[in-house]
Amino acid sequence: MAYKETFWMACDSTEQMRAEYGPFHTRAEAEQEARKLAFGYLLRYEHIIGDNEDIQEVRCIFVELPPGPVAVPARLIRKLHTRCATCGETAIHDEAWQAEVWADIHEFEHSRHRVRLFEQTRADGLKEISDWRDTCA
Ligand SMILES: [Zn+2]
Repeated sequence: MAYKETFWMACDSTEQMRAEYGPFHTRAEAEQEARKLAFGYLLRYEHIIGDNEDIQEVRCIFVELPPGPVAVPARLIRKLHTRCATCGETAIHDEAWQAEVWADIHEFEHSRHRVRLFEQTRADGLKEISDWRDTCA
């Protein structure tokens, strides 16, 4: 009985002279490594193994990786807006640390006030960044 053996490689292109890294047993492992290496493709190999453990057929399928999560370039963030949800006081900042300092001082001076952060970008307009102080702390 012939059977099929499948494994995955991370690779940087679909060209003949591509760089490949692997093999991996699962797609997830190969994808993780490809992301680390900034490779844009996965290659799925299928070996059809015959009765005598000989490879009868090799199939390979390229899988293009969707663009991964990328950090938002700083230049796209135009302004950071802080607004106290309790008393409505607002301020505008260029840097995240300035917003944090403002919020720290405000919440120190006014107990139980809760400052929210908004990011204003050209593309999305004003957008709230939730849990920002937990992630910055
Ligand atoms: Zn306040």
